[in-house]
Amino acid sequence: MKRIIYLPFDHLHRNFGALKAADPKNDLIVLVESARMTTGRNWHKERLFFLISSARHFAQLLESEGFTVEYVKAATTVDGLKSIQAKHKKLPIICAEPSSFRQFAALQEFGVEFFENDFFLTPRPLFKAWADTQKSYLMESFYRKQRVRLNILMAGSEPAGGTWNFDKENRLPPPKKYEGSAYLEHKRDEIDAQVASEIGHVMTTTWATTRQGALAQLKNFIDNHFGEFGPLEDAMTTDNWALHHSLLSPYLNNGLLHPSEVISAAVKAFDSGRIPIESAEGFIRQIIGWREYVNGMYWFLGPDYRENNQLKAKRKLLPLFNDSGATQMNCIKETVSDIRERAWVHHIPRLMLLSNLALVTGTNPQEFLEWMREVFIDASEWVMVPNVIGMGVHADGGQMMTKPYAAGGAYISRMSNYCKPCVYNPKLRTGDTACPFTTLYWDFLDRHKETFAKNHRMSQQVFGLNRLSDLPELKIRAQEVLKGLDDGKI
Ligand code: SF4
Repeated sequence: MKRIIYLPFDHLHRNFGALKAADPKNDLIVLVESARMTTGRNWHKERLFFLISSARHFAQLLESEGFTVEYVKAATTVDGLKSIQAKHKKLPIICAEPSSFRQFAALQEFGVEFFENDFFLTPRPLFKAWADTQKSYLMESFYRKQRVRLNILMAGSEPAGGTWNFDKENRLPPPKKYEGSAYLEHKRDEIDAQVASEIGHVMTTTWATTRQGALAQLKNFIDNHFGEFGPLEDAMTTDNWALHHSLLSPYLNNGLLHPSEVISAAVKAFDSGRIPIESAEGFIRQIIGWREYVNGMYWFLGPDYRENNQLKAKRKLLPLFNDSGATQMNCIKETVSDIRERAWVHHIPRLMLLSNLALVTGTNPQEFLEWMREVFIDASEWVMVPNVIGMGVHADGGQMMTKPYAAGGAYISRMSNYCKPCVYNPKLRTGDTACPFTTLYWDFLDRHKETFAKNHRMSQQVFGLNRLSDLPELKIRAQEVLKGLDDGKI
């Protein structure tokens, strides 16, 4: 053996990262299951199960290809690597650049040599070169550059379909009693059963833990859901847990799928003429736009960015985030139950329900970030830090997004079927049955009106405060709501 290749649990692809040039004769492959990863925090069991079982299946796949694989358990990744190096003296350790600042620093200090991380379509220096020339880091500007650079959905130098953006077409509310096509169930094997028993998890069939399963998920999305994805991508309904979302983010984020594979399948389906442009554009925007942008911003904004708290939000994490029984808000109750069941809800409940609630209640951004990291199956550090600190709770003072994503009950009522059976009324902002979102939206604007008055994208909303004749009454109700939320009674 000439080299040790260290394979983090999110680099599980044979053709990318350090493995792409690996050779069974010369390279010893090492995976480390660290106690920090498994027991350090209150991780969702579904998430742990998915990450560990995927890694063990991948190790088995490499062995079947003739590689020697060492899968070790240790207190930390570096401890695991030390134990391997003790056995294989003087072999250098190589790895593709890790996906978080902390792991990057720990491995660098230990002397690991890095390859470029190619698990994204945009190299980190290329993103930096773009960001360095921007006044405000608009995702839309980045996305258009990506479309041109990667030549995706282009008709010559113009966007296919005559426009870059089909957001207007992609904002339909959920149809009544919507069933949609079924989602895949994934069979379990001995490795799955072993992991589940080690971590005390009751196995579900929701998420694949193999490359084969991830590819089946991609095929199922392209064949059965892609065409209808776009118009319903923002809708929320209790009738169908995923609508037409792809459910591919866990596999993209742990390496079982590479974004180029997903894009190539999507473009092929669109070129066949059976996918409407609004669905094709909406989905491709998520992969080559949002996903790349968020990863780029994570590295561009630096390691201290996650500590931002520019709105000085101090509230402790509300009990409802960990206990759906601690609230009467139907939208939150349903969402938190769904997360318990599958470690997943789509981007709109994450942004417009959970983050919106954390934002308007003034919940401490770091406490909320830690919770989001723990409960979602796809919650890599690089995903969650910009999405929560920048987009979700506007804790960065607008470095990433020009305005906060605060909304009252009217938006949730329009885009979901949560409100009808709820004890609260989305139209009311005062009184015992006022929707907490509606009350707290105005209270939030009022609390921060000096800051937001300077923001031209917020001036209209702040101006709306002047038209509220019941503002004093609303402020009293807001205090009751915040206390009720703290006590798990609202
Ligand atoms: Fe949520 Fe308010 Fe609608 Fe109830 S009324 S479901 S709390 S948005």
